[in-house]
Amino acid sequence: MTKFSNRVTTLTGGGSDGWDLYRKSCDMIERGLPVVQLTLGEHDRKTDPAILEAMYRAALAGHTGYAAIAGTDALRDRIAARTERITGVTTGRNNVAVTSGGQAGLLAAHNIACDPGDTAIYIDPYYATYPGTIRAVGARAVAVEARAELGFQPKRTDLEAVGPARSLLINSPNNPTGVVYSQKTLEEIAGYVVDHDMWLISDEVYDTQVWDGVHLSPRQIPELQDRTLVVGSFSKSHAMTGSRIGWLIGSAAAIEHAINLSTHTTYGLPGFLQDAGTFALDQGPGLEAKISAPFRKRHAALCAIFTTRGIGVVPSTATMYLMLDVRPTGMSGDDFADQLLDDHLIAVMPGESFGRAAAGHVRVALTTDDAALESAAHKLADFYETHLRDAA
Ligand code: PMP
Repeated sequence: MTKFSNRVTTLTGGGSDGWDLYRKSCDMIERGLPVVQLTLGEHDRKTDPAILEAMYRAALAGHTGYAAIAGTDALRDRIAARTERITGVTTGRNNVAVTSGGQAGLLAAHNIACDPGDTAIYIDPYYATYPGTIRAVGARAVAVEARAELGFQPKRTDLEAVGPARSLLINSPNNPTGVVYSQKTLEEIAGYVVDHDMWLISDEVYDTQVWDGVHLSPRQIPELQDRTLVVGSFSKSHAMTGSRIGWLIGSAAAIEHAINLSTHTTYGLPGFLQDAGTFALDQGPGLEAKISAPFRKRHAALCAIFTTRGIGVVPSTATMYLMLDVRPTGMSGDDFADQLLDDHLIAVMPGESFGRAAAGHVRVALTTDDAALESAAHKLADFYETHLRDAA
């Protein structure tokens, strides 16, 4: 057979991609089993009908041809204004490129930052696509663990141990842990990337899901502004995962490169989707708050249930996820999640699917209605207690 490129054959790094449990739960659902699906970060509420109507109106009005590759002026202006409102950092149209979801923003950022063979760091635990995205640009993906005992905040000394690197990818508010990086963590990171003249890639797709305290964007630190590439998305903020609208924010020079990359990859997003995004942002922060509100409530409710039932909850102030420490049962996250699915038809993600640092944990996505979620939480706690006794 004609040889496939090393780039594609080494993309996933080989072995299990950690999503076995997710696939197993989908198979069970397909077979008709009533599985409570708490694996993916997929909202239980669909895209707001008003946004879909805006999409439809735009398509009927003829915005179905090739659209502006950088993003329409209207959409770029709205994204810039939103960024400026949230961060206070002056941001204009030329600081914004519209991308096919945050995922294409992550790929563009690494394309901008790294040459083949460069080392690109990402923080473990991590969102599943990170290492593959880095390999997709030919860079060497190196994980640095943010340790559970340090509240999953990465440390400069651990970053320094990697040696020369070109870029650092961070994600705060964090998937899977729900942790928001402290000012101190960001200052350590700033010192590190400035001293080594590196790019900082900041994935902020969960910026509307902060339940307590504040989320700082690294662009707010003056010496980071021009070396930071911020990845954003409508997926979580507007329950638009399937619309694939995201963005990259950076210096005007970096954004020119991002646009050039779009020209040679996706050729931009459909105009009617961009118009729907423009409409969504015109609804202002009120709509974003409405979409995140159920997760805020569920986060508090489940934290209370698990804590009362004696399960270690990773202290978190953000996101549509909760992480539980199941190590006292003596089970791995993989085994815990697998048996929980078999015994109680509840599907959660094993911590091991996010790397090594979250081993012995499971991630619960808060993505079903309040009553079903609370009932599932109690069943999970019963299961935990049973295995705790077995371990004793
Ligand atoms: N980053 C993180 C941390 C995510 O969790 C996700 C999606 N779950 C993405 C990026 C990609 O989002 P999008 O749908 O915008 O591509």
